[in-house]
Amino acid sequence: MTNPIMDEFLAFHPNPSSWYKYRCRSCIHTDWVEDVVVDAFPPEEPEGFPAIVCPECGGSFCCDTSEPVKRSRPHPDHAS
Ligand SMILES: [Zn+2]
Repeated sequence: MTNPIMDEFLAFHPNPSSWYKYRCRSCIHTDWVEDVVVDAFPPEEPEGFPAIVCPECGGSFCCDTSEPVKRSRPHPDHAS
């Protein structure tokens, strides 16, 4: 079965995204942040990643560089 919307999406996004593991410094929230988001913010952290606000508590949401970058088209936690 073909999905014309997905076919069109893949034509414009032929490569999987890079996902960076982010971890809150104030609570236990973690999430994967897509490269388009990372690239949209200035790299304020020493490691060259942007400091993002935690969506759960408003704390400092920072890239966990010990986690390998994932290459995936969908969100890694939602990939089947
Ligand atoms: Zn938090």
